[in-house]
This record gives sequence, structure tokens and C-alpha cells, in this order.
Amino acid sequence: MTIAENMVVTLQYTLSDLKTGEKIEATTPENPMVFLFGVGGIIPKFEASIEGLKVGDPFDFSIEAHEAYGLSDENRIAMIPLDVFHDENGKFDHEYFQVGAIIPMSDNEGNRLQGTIREISEENLKMDFNHPLADTDLHFKGEITEIRTATPDEIAHGHVHGPGGHHH
Ligand SMILES: [Zn+2]
Repeated sequence: MTIAENMVVTLQYTLSDLKTGEKIEATTPENPMVFLFGVGGIIPKFEASIEGLKVGDPFDFSIEAHEAYGLSDENRIAMIPLDVFHDENGKFDHEYFQVGAIIPMSDNEGNRLQGTIREISEENLKMDFNHPLADTDLHFKGEITEIRTATPDEIAHGHVHGPGGHHH
């Protein structure tokens, strides 16, 4: 059996920054990556790079930033007055709001966003709403550990059921 559309794929990987070699994240045997192949929601080049592989096959490939999480956009960086972040006592929490921290926020329409704090000045906080992995060339290394045919329910729902997937 090889990886193709409507297969449920289980794999292990380590993701690193291609340029610096720094590890970004990795799966574990208890928490592998499990997904329904070919329904989207995954970087297209990632799927293209493992299509046709079998259980036990290793992989090792890179995806440039523009084909992964994109390039950062200056328009997604905003200066926000510090008082927006004051707590009920009018205080700014310097412990929580630190440069590099990722803060959950929402826009005017209530959409959830994550912002990374880039700078904090006396009056403003410079918040970057680009994806944390924007501008990063990704290097994936790993192994395919399981492949099975998706059930009709899984194909209809567009996601995996059971271990590593949705429980409903
Ligand atoms: Zn479902």
C-alpha cells in the first residue's frame, strides 16, 4: 500500500529550520502525525513529497518559505497602545507581555489571531500577526509508520476518526 488520496497516513517527523538547523518541533511515538491524505489543510508540497511512499520509508525534504507558511508582510505588523493590554487595575503585566511571547488576540470582526510581540516601548507594543513560521525554510525528516484506507465516514467528513483523529 502506498500513500495516495483517501488514505490515512501516520508518520513521525522532525521539523527544523533549514537555514539554521534549529529544531522547531517533532512528533513522538505517543503523538504521531495522523491525517487524511489529499483533502488539504496540509502544506501541498508536504503531501507531494510523501505521495507514493510505503510504511517504513524514510523521507527527508525541504520546503521553501514561500511554499510553506509564506513570507512576512509589513502590513501584518501593528503598533498597539499599551493601555489596550492593561488589566482591570490599569496595570501592564510585564511578566506576561514579553518580547517574543505569542499572544492570542481577536480582530474587529472577532476572528482569532495570534500575535508575536516584537518590541515594547513606553507607549506601544509592536505586534507581528504574521505566521510564526513565515520566512522560514522548512526541513522535514522522518518516516512513514502506518497507512490504511480511510473509511467512507472519514472521507465524507474530510478528517480522520479514532486514534490521532476526531472523536465524535
Ligand atoms: Zn468526523
